[in-house]
Amino acid sequence: MSTPVATGLYEKRKAVCPSKVDGKFRRLKWLVMLGCLAVYYVTPWLRWDRGPYAPDQAVLIDMANRRFYMFSIEIWPQEFYLVAGLLIMAGIGLFLVTSAVGRAWCGYACPQTVWTDLYQHLDRFLDGDRNAQLRLEAAPWGPAKIARRGFKWAIYLAIAMSTGGAWILYFADAPTLWREFWSGEAASIAYSTVAVLTATTFWFGGFMREQVCIYMCPWPRIQSAMLDEKSLIVTYKDWRGEPRASIKKAEKNPGAFGDCIDCRQCIAVCPTGIDIREGAQIGCITCALCIDACDRVMKDIGRPRGLIDYATLEDSEREKAGAPATSHLKLIWHPRTLVYLAIWCAIGAGLLFALGTRKHIDLAIQKDRNPPFMLLSQGEVRNAWTFKLKNMENRPRPMKVTIEGLPGAVMWTDSMPREKAARELSIDVPPDTTLPVRAYVMAPAGTAGQDFAFVLAAQDAEGGGDRSETHFSTPGE
Ligand code: SF4
Ligand code: SF4
Repeated sequence: MSTPVATGLYEKRKAVCPSKVDGKFRRLKWLVMLGCLAVYYVTPWLRWDRGPYAPDQAVLIDMANRRFYMFSIEIWPQEFYLVAGLLIMAGIGLFLVTSAVGRAWCGYACPQTVWTDLYQHLDRFLDGDRNAQLRLEAAPWGPAKIARRGFKWAIYLAIAMSTGGAWILYFADAPTLWREFWSGEAASIAYSTVAVLTATTFWFGGFMREQVCIYMCPWPRIQSAMLDEKSLIVTYKDWRGEPRASIKKAEKNPGAFGDCIDCRQCIAVCPTGIDIREGAQIGCITCALCIDACDRVMKDIGRPRGLIDYATLEDSEREKAGAPATSHLKLIWHPRTLVYLAIWCAIGAGLLFALGTRKHIDLAIQKDRNPPFMLLSQGEVRNAWTFKLKNMENRPRPMKVTIEGLPGAVMWTDSMPREKAARELSIDVPPDTTLPVRAYVMAPAGTAGQDFAFVLAAQDAEGGGDRSETHFSTPGE
């Protein structure tokens, strides 16, 4: 009887030290990485002139004043549906990208990928390419290794801190917060946010790296469920590569082996350290660096490129049966991708329409319910309302509120004498403000209870207005 072998549930991580590689996908990855980092670090410093009454930061999440600014767009709290719409578009966009080009988000634009890539470049710059890194990893700890590691981790920390530091600049005026942060005058939430983001970036990007993608992130699991036989994934064409053998062995036995010469270059460049020749797996973030590496090997040994390539399972089956490979552009456009694209465009068009047609002034009214009316000395009836006059422009706007209907009625506010009561009120509403106004409407004795309306009209060149229907209460009702 064989003796049971003790196995643990925990597997010790093997250091992943990817080799340098060049090729079209690596260059694309460079572009995306530099673009993402530039957008992230530079955006809070961009200025956008909104006049003297609004902040001049192009992108600002102003929590204190409950506003979200994005270039010429200003979102108020009641317009949060626009932000929700953008988030839904981002979610559908991920589905769309996954349907069209598999896990391209993971391979190119996910922050975990971008920062891990940055740290891996730093490793290569400071410690040398893959072999030198593996030698240093295996070397015993001594003064030289401690000094090298200490120096590298200090740079890791500086990158992590600039990441956390840039994040808080989206929530306040960047130059002011920058000064306050370094002079110790910033709010404690700013320091704690930077501390948390520094720690997570340092740990996730510097040390955990591919483990975040393989063990922690839910997105690969969701994506795996979304991939089907029509999804583009990075594929090792085993029907062409197997049986694999070294180039020497293959030369001695012409025709006996496939195109894979088992050089393991595809594994050496993989940022998650997997072997794509074992088939599609959750650790593959579809960065396509193994395609670059294998294409180079194929070029060097004079065989056609594409032993590892983007392909769908459906197309792989066709290719295996001897048909030529379908172009990637054709593979991207299948019905599911078109459905996602249509939904994405419809939501985008809806948001643009809502943005383009939203009102920049608004009148909300609330009637006093208790008491609903008051009888005045000459038999007149008085009802009271609270108006909320909203000016969403970054400049003061003159507005007029008029009584429509209710014959003979006049109104006044807390800030004017009753003797000046009239059928209309002129009010200057400050910029970017919802102004509360108490208004009293008085109708002649004998007026019956009836519906009427308040009409708001802006008195400047831009114009615009609003209308609110309400009811005038009387003792006879
Ligand atoms: S790089 Fe290409 S040839 Fe080399 S082991 Fe990988 S699949 Fe085989
Ligand atoms: S197997 Fe290839 S595509 Fe997948 S993560 Fe590794 S290098 Fe990137």
